[in-house]
Amino acid sequence: MVRVLDEENISRNPYRRLCAIESHLPREGAVSKERQRINEKMAQLIPISIVDVNTKNQVDQSEKEDIEDEAIVQEVIDAVGKGGYRNIKNILQYLVPDLIQKGILNPHQPTINLRISGDGRNVGRKVKHVMVAVAILDDKSTLHKPNHYHTTILYPGCENYDSLSNVMAPFCHDLRNLKEQGLVINNIKWNFQLYFSSDWKFLATCLGFNGAHSKNFCPWCTISKSQQGDLSKEWIISKNINKLIEKNNYYEGHSRKPLFDMIPLNHWIPDELHVMLRITDRLWSLLIAELMEQGFFNDIARKIIIDEMKKIKINFQFWQDQGSKAWNYTSLMGDDKLKVLQFFNLTKILPRRRATMIRDLWNKFYELYIKMKDPITKAEDFKNDAKNWLTLFLTPSEGIPNTQGFKKGLYQPDNMTPYIHVLVHHISEFMTIHQKWGLKAFSCSGIEKKNHEQVSYFFRKTMKDGGGGKKKSQSLAIVEILQHENRNLFYNHNNIPLSYQNPKKIHIKT
Ligand SMILES: [Zn+2]
Repeated sequence: MVRVLDEENISRNPYRRLCAIESHLPREGAVSKERQRINEKMAQLIPISIVDVNTKNQVDQSEKEDIEDEAIVQEVIDAVGKGGYRNIKNILQYLVPDLIQKGILNPHQPTINLRISGDGRNVGRKVKHVMVAVAILDDKSTLHKPNHYHTTILYPGCENYDSLSNVMAPFCHDLRNLKEQGLVINNIKWNFQLYFSSDWKFLATCLGFNGAHSKNFCPWCTISKSQQGDLSKEWIISKNINKLIEKNNYYEGHSRKPLFDMIPLNHWIPDELHVMLRITDRLWSLLIAELMEQGFFNDIARKIIIDEMKKIKINFQFWQDQGSKAWNYTSLMGDDKLKVLQFFNLTKILPRRRATMIRDLWNKFYELYIKMKDPITKAEDFKNDAKNWLTLFLTPSEGIPNTQGFKKGLYQPDNMTPYIHVLVHHISEFMTIHQKWGLKAFSCSGIEKKNHEQVSYFFRKTMKDGGGGKKKSQSLAIVEILQHENRNLFYNHNNIPLSYQNPKKIHIKT
């Protein structure tokens, strides 16, 4: 019962009400007691510590809100200053024996491939909820499941270098130790291969590197913005983490010591989900910019776009900023972006010839995205396809504008996003290096989903359940999340079932 409530995110009050209707259910008090017993047992094995985090609540105003619920936002803001921490070695000590038993890890080849990921959710416009988690790459079939990401660090505040280096110091120390000394579990010494993946911002921050908007934008090679359009140039992963350890500003654009200095740069892997999200965003904003430029972006066009979105089952709106008069539009979730990319009928808003041209570019990007995630894609083929796509993206105009025979091209090198450079020049390299896992194994959708769900549930729950005054509930949300994770480990370890074959057995005496 405790597990069912955990898995389904059912909090105390709704459960009490269920008990009032169904008298055979175990009483809420009894369930709470059992939950507490598991918490205490797990706290012995994987202690949860609270750390002071020197951080502010500040979010990049240009980013979209991930969680908008006002009440949750306020709870998260109130909780800034404290972080939660679980030791990676404790988690491994608990997990590894089970993974051996399941045949996922082999004690005769004692190497564990450990993936580290980070995610910062924008909670309202003022605060981020930052999570750093690990996953066992060897346990390949579970990498899309949020429950198989084990949180080591959790804090509300700011996703910047100073906050992260402050709160991650013990974690990074442990990672270095794992890499250099390994870890003995039940008399077997395990070695570690480490990997890091996250979205661009988190990755650049942890690398002590500048943002995606600056002149030197690539974490992996030394390309500068002005060289992006040169299709004859090859770019490969050429930076070396050791150079950055010796001298933090060895490469242009780098200024701080990389936080994961124990992970080689070709194990810092871009997230395929964000490659798709950000490039789709760019394709869409280029389309809107074109409509504006041509003077087509009026009420009629906006209505046509909204109707077309409705047709492909997407809820979409435009609104105008009161001050700047700039037009904003609904920011779409990943699945909706894929729908637009595949199905949005461009002939509704563009002349047929133009629509066909842009549709072709969108279709080919969608195909690339599917190939990028497919483990059987050959890296060499992908490289060619990606390069051809960029050539198409950069199709130049022919002839003289406003004269006969003029053929309007597509986009300029300035229109490229850093993700396009990565797609064209580095993804095929990562495919080759990490062929054993496939790029999909480094996707951040699992950890993003986890962070989102946990913030939405636990920061709402502390408000509803009260828990003895506001002050007390505030500091507890982070601990509750980590206790919840500890219990998940416990259920998996003990094979606690979620349902029983024979419904009669459900009658539990309380
Ligand atoms: Zn590069």
